[in-house]
Amino acid sequence: MRCDVLTIFPELIGAYLDTGIIGKARQKGIIDVSVSNIREFASGKHKETDDYPFGGGPGMVFKPEPIFKAVEKLREDGRARKVILLTPQGRVFDQAMAEAFSKEEKRLVFICGRYEGIDERVRISLVDEEVSIGDYVLTGGELAALVIIDAVARLFSGVLGDESSKEAESFSWGPLDYPHYTRPREFRGLEVPEVLISGNHKEIERWRRKEALRKTLEMRPELLERIKLGELDKKLISEIEEEQ
Ligand code: SAM
Repeated sequence: MRCDVLTIFPELIGAYLDTGIIGKARQKGIIDVSVSNIREFASGKHKETDDYPFGGGPGMVFKPEPIFKAVEKLREDGRARKVILLTPQGRVFDQAMAEAFSKEEKRLVFICGRYEGIDERVRISLVDEEVSIGDYVLTGGELAALVIIDAVARLFSGVLGDESSKEAESFSWGPLDYPHYTRPREFRGLEVPEVLISGNHKEIERWRRKEALRKTLEMRPELLERIKLGELDKKLISEIEEEQ
Protein backbone atom coordinates (compact mmCIF):
# COMPACT_ATOMS: atom_id res chain seq x y z
CA MET A 1 0.00 0.00 0.00
CA ARG A 2 1.38 3.40 -0.96
CA CYS A 3 -0.44 6.49 0.24
CA ASP A 4 -0.21 10.10 1.38
CA VAL A 5 -2.39 11.64 4.05
CA LEU A 6 -3.18 15.36 3.96
CA THR A 7 -4.22 16.76 7.33
CA ILE A 8 -3.86 19.84 9.51
CA PHE A 9 -3.12 17.52 12.47
CA PRO A 10 -0.23 15.23 11.42
CA GLU A 11 0.60 14.60 15.09
CA LEU A 12 -2.86 13.07 15.59
CA ILE A 13 -2.14 10.22 13.24
CA GLY A 14 1.64 9.97 13.51
CA ALA A 15 1.60 7.93 16.73
CA TYR A 16 -0.82 5.37 15.32
CA LEU A 17 1.17 4.95 12.12
CA ASP A 18 4.40 4.44 14.09
CA THR A 19 3.01 1.84 16.51
CA GLY A 20 2.24 -1.90 16.53
CA ILE A 21 1.57 -3.89 13.38
CA ILE A 22 1.21 -0.80 11.18
CA GLY A 23 4.46 0.70 12.51
CA LYS A 24 6.31 -2.58 11.83
CA ALA A 25 4.82 -2.86 8.33
CA ARG A 26 6.10 0.64 7.56
CA GLN A 27 9.55 -0.17 8.96
CA LYS A 28 9.71 -3.32 6.82
CA GLY A 29 8.69 -1.26 3.77
CA ILE A 30 5.57 -3.38 3.13
CA ILE A 31 3.44 -0.26 3.29
CA ASP A 32 4.52 3.28 2.54
CA VAL A 33 2.47 6.01 4.26
CA SER A 34 3.52 9.67 4.19
CA VAL A 35 1.79 12.47 6.05
CA SER A 36 1.74 16.10 4.90
CA ASN A 37 0.60 19.08 6.90
CA ILE A 38 -1.89 21.08 4.83
CA ARG A 39 -1.13 24.18 6.92
CA GLU A 40 2.33 24.36 5.37
CA PHE A 41 0.63 25.14 2.07
CA ALA A 42 -1.52 27.96 3.46
CA SER A 43 -0.54 31.52 2.64
CA GLY A 44 -0.45 34.64 4.82
CA LYS A 45 1.13 35.39 8.15
CA HIS A 46 -1.30 33.22 10.07
CA LYS A 47 -1.36 30.29 7.63
CA GLU A 48 -5.15 30.12 7.84
CA THR A 49 -6.67 26.95 6.41
CA ASP A 50 -10.32 27.89 6.96
CA ASP A 51 -12.64 30.79 6.25
CA TYR A 52 -16.30 31.82 6.62
CA PRO A 53 -18.85 30.18 4.32
CA PHE A 54 -20.22 32.22 1.42
CA GLY A 55 -23.95 32.65 1.94
CA GLY A 56 -23.60 32.59 5.71
CA GLY A 57 -24.40 29.77 8.07
CA PRO A 58 -22.58 28.07 10.93
CA GLY A 59 -18.97 26.95 11.10
CA MET A 60 -15.94 27.41 8.92
CA VAL A 61 -14.95 25.88 5.60
CA PHE A 62 -11.58 24.47 4.51
CA LYS A 63 -10.06 26.87 1.98
CA PRO A 64 -9.31 25.35 -1.45
CA GLU A 65 -5.84 26.81 -1.97
CA PRO A 66 -3.81 24.91 0.66
CA ILE A 67 -5.33 21.59 -0.42
CA PHE A 68 -4.73 22.28 -4.13
CA LYS A 69 -1.12 23.25 -3.37
CA ALA A 70 -0.54 20.19 -1.18
CA VAL A 71 -1.83 17.84 -3.90
CA GLU A 72 0.18 19.68 -6.59
CA LYS A 73 3.31 19.31 -4.46
CA LEU A 74 2.73 15.55 -4.17
CA ARG A 75 2.24 15.31 -7.93
CA GLU A 76 5.65 16.84 -8.60
CA ASP A 77 7.20 13.35 -8.38
CA GLY A 78 5.18 12.33 -11.45
CA ARG A 79 3.65 9.23 -9.83
CA ALA A 80 0.04 8.34 -10.66
CA ARG A 81 -2.30 9.09 -7.76
CA LYS A 82 -5.92 8.50 -6.82
CA VAL A 83 -7.28 11.28 -4.61
CA ILE A 84 -9.76 10.20 -1.96
CA LEU A 85 -11.84 12.67 0.00
CA LEU A 86 -12.93 11.47 3.43
CA THR A 87 -16.49 12.62 3.95
CA PRO A 88 -19.68 11.33 5.57
CA GLN A 89 -21.27 11.83 2.14
CA GLY A 90 -19.04 9.24 0.44
CA ARG A 91 -19.48 5.58 -0.43
CA VAL A 92 -19.37 3.60 2.82
CA PHE A 93 -16.08 1.78 3.36
CA ASP A 94 -16.25 -1.99 3.73
CA GLN A 95 -14.04 -5.07 3.37
CA ALA A 96 -14.60 -5.22 -0.41
CA MET A 97 -13.37 -1.63 -0.73
CA ALA A 98 -10.36 -2.46 1.48
CA GLU A 99 -9.50 -5.30 -0.89
CA ALA A 100 -9.92 -3.04 -3.94
CA PHE A 101 -7.64 -0.40 -2.38
CA SER A 102 -5.04 -3.07 -1.56
CA LYS A 103 -4.84 -3.88 -5.30
CA GLU A 104 -4.79 -0.25 -6.42
CA GLU A 105 -1.75 0.46 -8.61
CA LYS A 106 -1.92 4.21 -8.07
CA ARG A 107 -0.68 5.89 -4.92
CA LEU A 108 -3.65 6.88 -2.75
CA VAL A 109 -4.03 10.40 -1.37
CA PHE A 110 -6.40 10.79 1.59
CA ILE A 111 -7.72 14.31 2.23
CA CYS A 112 -8.83 14.74 5.83
CA GLY A 113 -11.44 17.47 6.15
CA ARG A 114 -12.22 19.51 9.27
CA TYR A 115 -14.74 22.22 10.23
CA GLU A 116 -17.97 22.14 8.19
CA GLY A 117 -16.09 20.43 5.37
CA ILE A 118 -14.02 21.57 2.42
CA ASP A 119 -14.59 24.05 -0.38
CA GLU A 120 -16.61 22.29 -3.08
CA ARG A 121 -14.02 23.17 -5.77
CA VAL A 122 -11.62 20.69 -4.18
CA ARG A 123 -14.18 17.94 -4.69
CA ILE A 124 -14.98 19.06 -8.24
CA SER A 125 -11.40 19.39 -9.49
CA LEU A 126 -9.17 17.14 -7.42
CA VAL A 127 -11.14 14.26 -6.01
CA ASP A 128 -11.45 10.86 -7.71
CA GLU A 129 -13.46 9.11 -5.00
CA GLU A 130 -15.41 10.09 -1.88
CA VAL A 131 -15.33 7.65 1.03
CA SER A 132 -17.15 7.57 4.35
CA ILE A 133 -16.38 5.18 7.20
CA GLY A 134 -19.99 5.07 8.38
CA ASP A 135 -23.23 6.93 8.82
CA TYR A 136 -22.14 9.29 11.56
CA VAL A 137 -20.26 12.59 11.61
CA LEU A 138 -16.73 12.88 13.03
CA THR A 139 -14.91 16.12 13.79
CA GLY A 140 -12.27 15.35 11.18
CA GLY A 141 -11.15 12.86 8.54
CA GLU A 142 -8.03 11.66 10.39
CA LEU A 143 -9.74 8.73 12.13
CA ALA A 144 -11.34 7.76 8.84
CA ALA A 145 -7.93 7.76 7.10
CA LEU A 146 -6.48 5.56 9.86
CA VAL A 147 -9.40 3.15 9.71
CA ILE A 148 -8.90 2.70 5.97
CA ILE A 149 -5.10 2.46 6.13
CA ASP A 150 -5.32 -0.11 8.92
CA ALA A 151 -7.89 -2.30 7.16
CA VAL A 152 -6.00 -2.16 3.84
CA ALA A 153 -2.50 -2.64 5.32
CA ARG A 154 -3.36 -5.90 7.06
CA LEU A 155 -4.29 -7.47 3.73
CA PHE A 156 -0.66 -7.33 2.58
CA SER A 157 1.46 -10.40 2.92
CA GLY A 158 3.97 -10.08 5.79
CA VAL A 159 1.96 -7.52 7.78
CA LEU A 160 0.23 -9.96 10.16
CA GLY A 161 2.25 -12.46 12.22
CA ASP A 162 0.00 -15.36 11.18
CA GLU A 163 -1.46 -14.97 7.70
CA SER A 164 -4.07 -17.68 8.30
CA SER A 165 -5.77 -15.45 10.89
CA LYS A 166 -7.23 -13.41 8.00
CA GLU A 167 -9.10 -16.38 6.57
CA ALA A 168 -11.67 -17.00 9.31
CA GLU A 169 -12.25 -13.36 10.13
CA SER A 170 -15.55 -11.56 9.94
CA PHE A 171 -16.45 -10.65 6.34
CA SER A 172 -13.70 -12.71 4.67
CA TRP A 173 -15.84 -15.82 4.10
CA GLY A 174 -19.25 -14.39 4.86
CA PRO A 175 -20.32 -14.95 8.45
CA LEU A 176 -18.79 -13.09 11.37
CA ASP A 177 -15.76 -14.51 13.17
CA TYR A 178 -16.20 -17.31 15.76
CA PRO A 179 -15.61 -16.63 19.50
CA HIS A 180 -12.03 -16.81 20.76
CA TYR A 181 -10.76 -18.01 24.16
CA THR A 182 -7.30 -18.01 25.75
CA ARG A 183 -5.89 -19.03 29.14
CA PRO A 184 -6.95 -19.45 31.90
CA ARG A 185 -9.36 -22.36 31.31
CA GLU A 186 -11.63 -21.03 34.03
CA PHE A 187 -12.04 -17.31 34.75
CA ARG A 188 -14.40 -16.07 37.49
CA GLY A 189 -16.51 -19.18 37.14
CA LEU A 190 -16.66 -19.04 33.34
CA GLU A 191 -15.25 -22.12 31.60
CA VAL A 192 -13.72 -22.39 28.15
CA PRO A 193 -16.03 -24.62 26.02
CA GLU A 194 -14.96 -28.26 26.46
CA VAL A 195 -14.63 -28.90 22.73
CA LEU A 196 -11.77 -26.37 22.41
CA ILE A 197 -9.59 -28.37 24.78
CA SER A 198 -10.61 -31.76 23.36
CA GLY A 199 -7.83 -31.81 20.77
CA ASN A 200 -10.43 -33.03 18.22
CA HIS A 201 -9.76 -30.67 15.31
CA LYS A 202 -12.78 -31.77 13.29
CA GLU A 203 -15.10 -31.07 16.20
CA ILE A 204 -13.36 -27.76 16.93
CA GLU A 205 -13.82 -26.70 13.33
CA ARG A 206 -17.53 -27.67 13.42
CA TRP A 207 -18.05 -25.79 16.71
CA ARG A 208 -16.36 -22.67 15.38
CA ARG A 209 -18.43 -22.68 12.22
CA LYS A 210 -21.63 -23.15 14.18
CA GLU A 211 -20.77 -20.35 16.62
CA ALA A 212 -19.83 -18.05 13.72
CA LEU A 213 -23.23 -18.73 12.17
CA ARG A 214 -24.96 -18.23 15.53
CA LYS A 215 -23.25 -14.85 16.01
CA THR A 216 -24.15 -13.79 12.48
CA LEU A 217 -27.79 -14.82 12.88
CA GLU A 218 -27.93 -12.82 16.10
CA MET A 219 -26.04 -9.69 15.03
CA ARG A 220 -26.00 -9.42 11.22
CA PRO A 221 -28.54 -11.85 9.68
CA GLU A 222 -28.46 -9.96 6.36
CA LEU A 223 -24.88 -11.18 5.78
CA LEU A 224 -26.18 -14.73 5.45
CA GLU A 225 -28.27 -13.71 2.45
CA ARG A 226 -25.11 -12.60 0.62
CA ILE A 227 -23.18 -15.86 0.97
CA LYS A 228 -23.61 -19.31 -0.48
CA LEU A 229 -24.38 -21.63 2.43
CA GLY A 230 -23.15 -25.20 2.16
CA GLU A 231 -25.05 -28.31 3.36
CA LEU A 232 -23.18 -28.24 6.69
CA ASP A 233 -24.03 -24.56 7.21
CA LYS A 234 -27.74 -25.28 6.64
CA LYS A 235 -27.61 -28.18 9.09
CA LEU A 236 -25.84 -26.04 11.70
CA ILE A 237 -28.38 -23.24 11.26
CA SER A 238 -31.30 -25.63 11.82
CA GLU A 239 -29.52 -26.97 14.94
CA ILE A 240 -29.17 -23.38 16.20
CA GLU A 241 -32.85 -22.66 15.49
CA GLU A 242 -33.90 -25.81 17.35
CA GLU A 243 -31.72 -24.82 20.33
CA GLN A 244 -33.50 -21.49 20.49
N1 SAM B 1 -20.70 19.23 7.13
C1 SAM B 1 -20.22 17.93 6.75
C2 SAM B 1 -21.40 17.07 6.35
O1 SAM B 1 -22.45 17.15 6.99
O2 SAM B 1 -21.27 16.25 5.43
C3 SAM B 1 -19.48 17.25 7.90
C4 SAM B 1 -18.15 17.83 8.17
S1 SAM B 1 -17.29 16.96 9.43
C5 SAM B 1 -17.73 17.85 10.87
C6 SAM B 1 -15.61 17.42 9.20
C7 SAM B 1 -14.78 16.43 8.43
O3 SAM B 1 -14.72 15.19 9.12
C8 SAM B 1 -15.26 16.07 7.04
O4 SAM B 1 -14.84 17.02 6.08
C9 SAM B 1 -14.62 14.72 6.81
O5 SAM B 1 -13.30 14.82 6.29
C10 SAM B 1 -14.55 14.12 8.20
N2 SAM B 1 -15.61 13.14 8.46
C11 SAM B 1 -16.65 13.28 9.30
N3 SAM B 1 -17.41 12.19 9.33
C12 SAM B 1 -16.85 11.30 8.50
C13 SAM B 1 -17.19 9.98 8.09
N4 SAM B 1 -18.25 9.36 8.56
N5 SAM B 1 -16.38 9.37 7.20
C14 SAM B 1 -15.29 9.99 6.70
N6 SAM B 1 -14.91 11.24 7.04
C15 SAM B 1 -15.69 11.89 7.92
